[in-house]
Amino acid sequence: MNATRVATTILAALVLAGGCVAADPGASPTGLPDPSAGASAAPSAAPTATPSPAATQSPAPPPTVAPPTPQPTPTAKPTSTAKPTAAKPTATPAPLPSCFFGNRMTAPRGYDDWAVTLVDKVYRLPARYAPPNLVSTRRAGIGGGWKVRALVIPDLRALKRAATKAGVSVYVMTAYRSYATQAAWYRSSTRSLGLRRGSLLTARAGHSEHQLGTTIDFGGGWRWLARNAWRYGFVMSYPKGKSPSVTCMQFEPWHYRYVGRDLAAAIHASHLTSREYLWNLAAALLAG
Ligand SMILES: [Zn+2]
Repeated sequence: MNATRVATTILAALVLAGGCVAADPGASPTGLPDPSAGASAAPSAAPTATPSPAATQSPAPPPTVAPPTPQPTPTAKPTSTAKPTAAKPTATPAPLPSCFFGNRMTAPRGYDDWAVTLVDKVYRLPARYAPPNLVSTRRAGIGGGWKVRALVIPDLRALKRAATKAGVSVYVMTAYRSYATQAAWYRSSTRSLGLRRGSLLTARAGHSEHQLGTTIDFGGGWRWLARNAWRYGFVMSYPKGKSPSVTCMQFEPWHYRYVGRDLAAAIHASHLTSREYLWNLAAALLAG
């Protein structure tokens, strides 16, 4: 499947998925956290196994922020094997959603779509999303335990070796977290820090990249990781300067999502966040 078809699928699915929850009472159009959003964020919609946007759904709500700078020439080649849907967007591509507590089901969200599945404050994974082949990060020779999808291991091992060679110590603080575990972490975080600070640090259940099974919080080596992690397929999801304004989360120098070396290199070269990039990849290709 080529990048254009992936992009078309992503944007069509996200825009249409957005329309189906436009009435979400937890969504605050002001972009400010809504104290009532926590309760409404509970997984009420029954997730489907494959992306299936209905052509009859209404378009996404009007934008509340200026569209991000268009991405000129994405060169990424996502390894997604998602099947394109029949639905095709006819309207102008929607801008990146602002940072509100949305409850929209992301798409594509198949287990083969791990590199391009957008997970943020607005778009979420199904509660039942539990990726296959979770193995200990120790298989990569890195300390700390926790699990990731097996497909992460080779590049994680290469990253660890390169760090060690450079005299840098890195280990895993946390990696895969299930929907239920994330729910507990969110409750704990918002209870101790309050809703605003807690939700900048810890995502609601379903809205955490850790549920993808490809995301790692690294302990140590943050400076080295900031310069080099992309070479091994990892991108910092919430970089300084764009967090929380663009990423919707606080600056987290430890949080890296694995997207594969090709896509990580493209995101690194773009100077965009992965959130912007995944969205713009679709928008730019559709516009062209
Ligand atoms: Zn994290």
